[in-house]
Amino acid sequence: MWKRNSKNIKLLLYIIFLLISIGLIILLLISEPTPDYTERSFDTLGTYVTVKISGDKVASNTLLDIIESELKRVNDKFSANLESSVVYEINKNKIARLDDESMFLIKSALNISEITGKAFDLTIRPLVELWGFHDQYALASVPDTEKIKEYLNYIDYRFVKIDENNNSIEIINENTKIDLGGIAKGYAIDRAINRINEIDKGATGFINAGGDIGIIGPKYGKLPWAIGIRDPKSSNAYDITDIVYLYNGSIVTSGNYERYIIEDNVRYHHILDPKTGFPANNAISTTVIADNTLIADAFSTAIFVLGFDNPALEYFTNFGIQAMVISEDEEKNETSGFDYFRRKGRK
Ligand code: AMP
Ligand code: MG
Repeated sequence: MWKRNSKNIKLLLYIIFLLISIGLIILLLISEPTPDYTERSFDTLGTYVTVKISGDKVASNTLLDIIESELKRVNDKFSANLESSVVYEINKNKIARLDDESMFLIKSALNISEITGKAFDLTIRPLVELWGFHDQYALASVPDTEKIKEYLNYIDYRFVKIDENNNSIEIINENTKIDLGGIAKGYAIDRAINRINEIDKGATGFINAGGDIGIIGPKYGKLPWAIGIRDPKSSNAYDITDIVYLYNGSIVTSGNYERYIIEDNVRYHHILDPKTGFPANNAISTTVIADNTLIADAFSTAIFVLGFDNPALEYFTNFGIQAMVISEDEEKNETSGFDYFRRKGRK
């Protein structure tokens, strides 16, 4: 009797042990390890950049090094302020040879200039310099109205001629200069994400360059990133007016709070209307969601210029974007598909 009991207890213990083991194995199989995120912030592309990343096969710090150097490489190549840049050379000599990358970026900027009917115009540079918005250390001030009128004559993307057969560019007006500031941040982010995808496809995280955000991969590999859209009226950068959820792709916000001066109680900011020569004043913030950051960046600048009651807003969804525009009195006007991104469960 005792013997049989002890056998039963042994069997029972064995079964319990087996069940616990199976349970543990199942738990292990269904619960993936939660990746740790590593963060780094630095200055480049005229703004403050924050990157959050978790490597899959490659150490996060190595990936951060790659992202930082790629963003800085694009900055150094395309910043109109740096004497060693491609853009500086083009502006100085009015004629130059272009490598494939420069050709791609300038062609993209020309396309956006055309599509948006000059709301975005890559030849905005003379006006940006006149206002003093070209350099974060320059002292901006409201220029003389006559000067603005004169400078408007230099702003037209059609002064820029590219020859794809000869890989060359020519600016046919001696006072015209180009400025890729409204598009280069987005391009740099796309390039950095491409590089990460090439070497570690399973890496996740995002790059945020002063309101230009490109997603490297969903949070923990499966969740959307919750992205707060800054309240343009608040002086606190952490106050938000909206939240959208993105698994991948890009979101870019342009605001009148990024770079500005105040004179006689009027705010003058860095997004200029190529038709008036003054800061665009029919919106205070625009947010654009797209598959890539270059497109989102360029359209956020253009849609800002076109303003709150722009009748072409919905038309731009043909270019793969969704957009939201905020007016001075904080009303929101948005494309039909924008609201989709406010729902957390979307895939
Ligand atoms: P973002 O912060 O992306 O909206 O871009 C603003 C930057 O783009 C400015 O600092 C200028 O260098 C440049 N920019 C300003 N106005 C325009 C415009 N209408 N078209 C193209 N680029 C512009
Ligand atoms: Mg932009």
